Amino acid sequence: MNYKEIPKVELHCHLEACFREETVMEVGRSLGMDVPQDSARFRGEWLLSKPLENLQVALQRFVDIQKIWCSEEVIERMTFEACEYAVEQGIRIMEFRYAPDFIASGKPHLTFQKIHESILRGVGRASEFDIAIGLIGIVQKTLPLSDAQRTVEFLIQNADSFVALDFADKHTHELADYAPMVRKARDAGLRVTFHAGEEPVPSAPAEVRAAIEDLGADRIGHGIHIVNDESVMTLARNLGVALEVCPTSNWLTSSVPSTREHPIRRLIDAGVAVTINSDDPGLFGIDLCHEYELLHREHGFSIEDFDRSNDVAAAQSFIPLEIKQSVWPRKIESLQSR
Ligand SMILES: [Zn+2]
Repeated sequence: MNYKEIPKVELHCHLEACFREETVMEVGRSLGMDVPQDSARFRGEWLLSKPLENLQVALQRFVDIQKIWCSEEVIERMTFEACEYAVEQGIRIMEFRYAPDFIASGKPHLTFQKIHESILRGVGRASEFDIAIGLIGIVQKTLPLSDAQRTVEFLIQNADSFVALDFADKHTHELADYAPMVRKARDAGLRVTFHAGEEPVPSAPAEVRAAIEDLGADRIGHGIHIVNDESVMTLARNLGVALEVCPTSNWLTSSVPSTREHPIRRLIDAGVAVTINSDDPGLFGIDLCHEYELLHREHGFSIEDFDRSNDVAAAQSFIPLEIKQSVWPRKIESLQSR
């Protein structure tokens, strides 16, 4: 199977963790950071290529990369390179997500607006490519609620250049606390996805249920641990809420013991809408085709399976229908917004 040739949709990719090794080495060197200049050491010290103890340890690896997103010029360049990566992967519909608070942290010269405009310039340079690109703004769940509110306000002010709002990182508040912000964002035309049900904890299905019922999430980031809860799978299925599944990521963050034991097949067989994604390709040293190859080898995915999941993802993409349809080879099903 030639994986690059399959027309693809990617709905869950963190822009900050979608980078070229050489660019990180070059920018890091220019900043005086101690970045290994040979690939093997770089991979060992900067990337996540084997499971660490837990999600928190994994998130810590983002800290070095965060420093690399250092100026308007670098942000524009790395965004454009991420778009080039998507095109190389055969991706036709791409949703990148980023956290303004994450990129801006410790950088007083970078306002949210400057960061966003730099990203838009990077995306704009990719307009020559045959690809539809949408941006999702992330609110970090670790932020105090007042900061989360400020970020949502920023996303609303830029609602014409974001397609959706996402919540990521470890839970520190009740999900219901976000409900007023989500309502405002939705009124401004933003759709909603939510990282939930990623960690293998007993509360995982309840988290996903709350994201769907209390926040009206249109999609769920990961959500794979609903597989043991028939009622939440039924809920997701009945409402057409798709899971953004990222197999290697789930292994590296110890969400599943191995990619072979990933429940993706069981979720599909249960009728849940499942999409295939890479999460943090640069940080994990993988690409989206790697995930396809893995699913083919370990889970027997055929070309028909890939086409089906890509059609689901095309329908579930938050990019306006006429734009995504213009780059997609098959008819995209029109879904009702929740
Ligand atoms: Zn994610």
